[in-house]
Amino acid sequence: MYVDIAIIGASSAGLFAAERLAKAGRNVVVFERQKTLNHARRTYIITPQLRHVIGEVPPSATLHKTPLLELCSPTGTARVLLQDPDLIVERHELITRLAERAERAGATIAYGCHLVGLAPGTQGAELRFDLHGDTSLAVCANSVIGADGAFSAVAQAVGLPRPPLVQIVQAEVALPPGYDPRVTRVWFDAAATRYFYWLIPESNTHGVLGVITDAGDRTRDLLDSFLRHQGMTALAYQASHVAMYHPSLRAWGHLGQTPVFLVGDAAGQVKVTTVGGTVTGFSGAEAAVRCILEGTHPKRALASVTRELDLHWWLRRLVERFDNPAYDRLLAHLSPTLLAFLARHNRDEMSSAIWQVPFLRPQILGLGLAALLWGDKEKIELRPRHSEKHTSMPTHIAAD
Ligand SMILES: Cc1cc2nc3c(=O)[nH]c(=O)nc-3n(C[C@H](O)[C@H](O)[C@H](O)COP(=O)(O)OP(=O)(O)OC[C@H]3O[C@@H](n4cnc5c(N)ncnc54)[C@H](O)[C@@H]3O)c2cc1C
Repeated sequence: MYVDIAIIGASSAGLFAAERLAKAGRNVVVFERQKTLNHARRTYIITPQLRHVIGEVPPSATLHKTPLLELCSPTGTARVLLQDPDLIVERHELITRLAERAERAGATIAYGCHLVGLAPGTQGAELRFDLHGDTSLAVCANSVIGADGAFSAVAQAVGLPRPPLVQIVQAEVALPPGYDPRVTRVWFDAAATRYFYWLIPESNTHGVLGVITDAGDRTRDLLDSFLRHQGMTALAYQASHVAMYHPSLRAWGHLGQTPVFLVGDAAGQVKVTTVGGTVTGFSGAEAAVRCILEGTHPKRALASVTRELDLHWWLRRLVERFDNPAYDRLLAHLSPTLLAFLARHNRDEMSSAIWQVPFLRPQILGLGLAALLWGDKEKIELRPRHSEKHTSMPTHIAAD
């Protein structure tokens, strides 16, 4: 079978790329290992930047909106009233609608196709899929997009470093009595996690309480103990590994003469401050599309998303050094002008405005410098995993 563009993974980033390429008249096939679109339910909080990137956000996927962000440290609280509320989106519904859009635009989605081999060939890249059982499918493609998530088989085959991983676990909960369903609450507790806990309302009565760690199996224990502390009970859990950005990652390569692009978690296009990968994954997909359609150099096409991801990486390096008193001081320094700044600039468009912060509140610069000079330098810095160069891969690839 011959295809112009093969996309591996019917993920949000892969399906968005498929829609854009098919609209431009290209022959696109998305290969997905699942037999149907069967992504587990997952509640996302996404900045309104989503609308700028993908156009209309499917109304059926939008569960709720939260205009208030409440930040809590052990002794402090600060509230940001967002000018444009965050969107609370359900993943399965979002992906289902994106798949419909891609198919309407002319893309084909081939389900039950598990990529097990990728090698350079004379006519293009040669891909081999396991079709759930003893049959397999051979495909030749002019371009390949790896949208196959945090354990990307495409990255491994091309010899690109795979992103470092963290674990997210969130519990579906009933909101506590009296909880304002317009508020997303974030708790910093450096003694428990170098990331944070959150409570995101997804309706007037329910929400998700979650935590990010790199503590492996202990993540669930940490969340359960926090749930007990907050007097809440888990109704169900949503959990997986998520890739993290690192400046040394590269989202493009070649197999012989065939260009290969990685998008979404496969490329580590995830903001490491908040571990949000949806908008940045879509932006990465948009960049890959420009490379294919317009011949733009990947570095140029990715410039704005790289700038944003780099900024979040530097901010994380700084907050990694915060202990609880530093978080208390940080919240105390959030003056009305700084809160107004945070209300105007969402987390996906910080790089063009961050320079204003030291002018609005010079104390923040002092706090950052103190963290750099005297903060805890012992914390591990997540690094990408360098995969060996494989031209074919084992049939069993670690996957989530
Ligand atoms: C509990 C939880 C909460 C989260 N909350 C948020 C949030 O609030 N906001 C936010 O922005 N982000 C959030 N994230 C992160 C977000 O889910 C990821 O960044 C995003 O899903 C990445 O999507 P993707 O398109 O790159 O790939 P994925 O969603 O990982 O999809 C990869 C696809 O590739 C397929 N695939 C994999 N290997 C193969 C193969 N060999 N052959 C064929 N197909 C293959 C898989 O079946 C899958 O369909 C959360 C993550 C978790 C776990």
